[in-house]
Amino acid sequence: TSAANNIISQANLQSDISKVLFIDDGRKITYGDFVQRAGQYATALTEKYKIKKGDRVMARVSKTTDTAALYAACLQIGALYVPVNPALTQSEAAHYVKDAKPSLWITCKDDADQIAMFQRVLKTVCIDNPVEVINEKVLADEAGKRKACTMIEHVEKSNAATICFTSGTTGAPKGAVLSHGALTNNTNALVQEWGFTENDVNLHCLPIFHAHGLYFSLHCSLFSHSSVIWRPNFDAEDCSKHLKNATVFMGVPTFYSRLLATNNFNKESFEKIRLFISGSAPLSVPTLEEFEKRTGQVILERYGMTEAGVIASNPLKGKRKAGTVGQALKGVQCRVTENGEIEIKSDSIFSEYWKNPEKTKEEFTEDGWFKTGDVGSLDKDGYLTIGGRSKDMIISGGENIYPKEIEDAIDSIEFVKESAVIAAPHPDFGEAVVAVVVPKNMVEDEQKFEEDLIEMLRKKLAKYKVPKKVILLEELPRNHITKVRKDILRASYNKLFS
Ligand code: ATP
Ligand code: MG
Repeated sequence: TSAANNIISQANLQSDISKVLFIDDGRKITYGDFVQRAGQYATALTEKYKIKKGDRVMARVSKTTDTAALYAACLQIGALYVPVNPALTQSEAAHYVKDAKPSLWITCKDDADQIAMFQRVLKTVCIDNPVEVINEKVLADEAGKRKACTMIEHVEKSNAATICFTSGTTGAPKGAVLSHGALTNNTNALVQEWGFTENDVNLHCLPIFHAHGLYFSLHCSLFSHSSVIWRPNFDAEDCSKHLKNATVFMGVPTFYSRLLATNNFNKESFEKIRLFISGSAPLSVPTLEEFEKRTGQVILERYGMTEAGVIASNPLKGKRKAGTVGQALKGVQCRVTENGEIEIKSDSIFSEYWKNPEKTKEEFTEDGWFKTGDVGSLDKDGYLTIGGRSKDMIISGGENIYPKEIEDAIDSIEFVKESAVIAAPHPDFGEAVVAVVVPKNMVEDEQKFEEDLIEMLRKKLAKYKVPKKVILLEELPRNHITKVRKDILRASYNKLFS
């Protein structure tokens, strides 16, 4: 073991302590301030709460520069940081606690009743391992009273740094164990791929309880010793305002469609941005094209997942191909099986699903490739196109149908805002293609809308891909990181043809 293996050493945060890290509502926090604050948290965690290397610290915390320092502190002392959504309810919380068995649970709900409630929940699930629940403000005060720890814990590269839960788009979230080495490798590859330098200013509007906001975005800034405009969440107006001072922006596709929905969004909205990046869910080609028309910039789309970090990315300098997620990132190998399933080998791969060896084993092939659960294809230049999740693939009359292809065709139609294509059981075809569509404007005659849409799709798609039924909705059901919950749609429309 060695301190050098710790991702905190790898980030080398001390190299220029006067450099500004966070710009937080006019407040500037330098790298020196951040290291000091993280050190104070490290002391509080070890002295007051007896946290040691390997212990889990579960953080149901708000997004502040202080909670970012708390994250760094956990890495520094070799404790496993376990971020969870601060909006979690009582019963949802139990799932995570039961799974991760943390020694300490930090929560942003500050009234005593809430804390007592969590304590009660935890008593019922962690009988053998009592968990202390504290409010984030209490911990911040404890940290404030203490001298900063400067020691960085010795670890192996393969030692766990965090347990990060997947987004729960296809079922209960799974805790992916990520090592110091995996996180370091992915970050180094991203900094290089996306050309991060110390001059960058990253506008950060993502939540920090997921891989996208916590690892991909924040780590790129930390490793390149550059600055971050730290916003508590995404709001199109707020984001537009801050884009003026940023050089890089990372978002999920809905961030981009919401920016476009604000009337006055155009290239005057920002002057210094060199790179817009999108990931976490498919970016629709019409959004990409509209964005380019309005701003002159081509959004760089990339593909990743909690278990593997970023897997593929369109290039910074070379050709960005619309509708693809680009080529395998440095350190990643990517292959597509006969059934269209995407499998990878990566130096940033997770170690295991926390305490779930069977599930871990299931997700790897015998020769060690990780099954992403996504389907797609590789073109001759090695650009990957994601067709959707294998669970979402539709088999109709014996033909495999990728929902994404049909969604792209639907989304490019004038009067459509967005769509989700799902399968519904069908007596004849086995499964039938169903399109759930959000129209741009109010629809008076739904039947006519359906007929018009299907008529237009007939010109674009082979007959077997054309939806058998169109459902109109005002909005699609989404999870907290705005991914479409197709499982909910499938359950709602599973009797359409029976
Ligand atoms: P769960 O595994 O709990 O069901 P999840 O897979 O949504 O949730 P994440 O790890 O946050 O959890 O997301 C990874 C998934 O997001 C990928 O497997 C892929 O389906 C999707 N994804 C990420 N980037 C893209 C992209 N650019 N285009 C299409 N899909 C993407
Ligand atoms: Mg997943």
